[in-house]
Amino acid sequence: MSQSFTHTIDGKAVAGESTFGVVNPATGEVFAEAPDCTPAQLDMAMDAAQRAFRSWRTDEAKRRQTLVECANALKARAGELAPVLTQEQGKPLAKAMEEIIGGMVWFQVTAGLKIPVDAVAEGVEVRRKPYGVVGAITPWNFPLLLAIWKIAPALLAGNAIVLKPSPFTPLSTLKLGEILRDVVPAGVINTISGGDPLGAWITAHPAVRKISFTGSVATGKKIAAAAAPDLKRVTLELGGNDPAIVLKDVDPKAVAEKLFWGAFENNGQVCSAIKRLYVEEEVYQPLVDELAALAKRVKVGNGLEQGTQIGPVNNKPQYQRVRELVEDAKKHGARFVAGGEAIDGKGYFFQPTIVTGIAEGVRLVDEEQFGPALPILPFRRVEEAVERANATHFGLSGSVWSKDVERAKAIASELECGTGWVNQHLAIRPDAPFGGSKWSGIGYENGPYGLAAFTELQTINVAKG
Ligand code: NAD
Repeated sequence: MSQSFTHTIDGKAVAGESTFGVVNPATGEVFAEAPDCTPAQLDMAMDAAQRAFRSWRTDEAKRRQTLVECANALKARAGELAPVLTQEQGKPLAKAMEEIIGGMVWFQVTAGLKIPVDAVAEGVEVRRKPYGVVGAITPWNFPLLLAIWKIAPALLAGNAIVLKPSPFTPLSTLKLGEILRDVVPAGVINTISGGDPLGAWITAHPAVRKISFTGSVATGKKIAAAAAPDLKRVTLELGGNDPAIVLKDVDPKAVAEKLFWGAFENNGQVCSAIKRLYVEEEVYQPLVDELAALAKRVKVGNGLEQGTQIGPVNNKPQYQRVRELVEDAKKHGARFVAGGEAIDGKGYFFQPTIVTGIAEGVRLVDEEQFGPALPILPFRRVEEAVERANATHFGLSGSVWSKDVERAKAIASELECGTGWVNQHLAIRPDAPFGGSKWSGIGYENGPYGLAAFTELQTINVAKG
């Protein structure tokens, strides 16, 4: 790729003093270089954000209009952004385009959210004020969409932002910064790339008043600890080990495809993908057969090739982790009704894998696999399935599948997680809160609830008479 990628700091392109290679997971080879942000460049970004904040916070109507223009700019440049996303992340081009369109929708919907002022008594008002500078840190599975989940509400609320993508997928975010340079006043959005230490520098930086982080539980805990001495506010969107519970009244043929993509969307690299599938005994075998057939049929390949449905695992450490969890399951006597092996050749490809004969106590069930290997576990009683589903530190989301919607809703409400779906999974909306219980996170993103995370309350109380 002959394109060059730069930080966006104070509305300008800033080259790296050094760069790091970005690997295309479909080939295993470096295809582009990203700038490696120095501490001095980080200070420049923070200074720019602090300066920009002073005027940005004053004009709500302008901020709304700017978000609409961000959506338009994204639409206009989607064609050049999508192949960058596919090459660094691995997902099929059509899915990269879907992610960009999702980002556009998030900008549009967020632009229409209200920033309420509550009159609680005569002369007493409660207002929502921005924090100032937001430090935003994102992972590699949906680099653009998850960045926009932060940018749009942070900006609408009146904050300025310094955003760092994952070192595995920095390019589409840098490109987004470049696209938005023409639309957003200088310093309001700063996009910088670097390794994990850059994330730690952002977290520790005195200019930052709010940290919005999406990533793993392990990093989330480090961020919470690093934020504490300065009492920075944090929103943490962390990992999940989502259960789906399938009751015996379903038609296995009718639900199989939805369940399959609930687990294998983005090659299983979705925080809230189905990662443990609990199926009532009566429909267990027919559903396993349907899912195995789908797993064998699906087209795995380079995301740039037409017809590819599932791309590679995004990066080498994650690829090795998926292999390790699968090998561990084999050692514990699990059966592989589809897949179970890495795919020979270049790139980080792994067969879509369906695992039976496995139970709690094996890593593939207990840990977040974040890849294309789904364990399917039978159950006898619904109460038992709910108990097993909840017996984890994770609590991101879960789903219940049944023809009896009211019963399924009641069971979903027993799940200890931020979102309970019925007869669907991964139905994430820009107007509903998304966040985790327990170790899956602190706080929420999206809709008015996510907007609230970028504001703090101030009571204005005027003396009577
Ligand atoms: P990760 O925690 O390794 O990295 C995420 C980001 O944090 C990267 O930008 C990384 O450079 C940065 N980082 C690393 N160490 C840091 C430190 N000490 N201080 C500050 N920043 C640091 O996660 P990942 O592997 O990129 O992403 C996968 C994880 O993200 C999975 O667990 C997945 O479930 C989770 N995730 C959660 C959501 C959600 O909304 N809940 C969404 C997507 C992904």
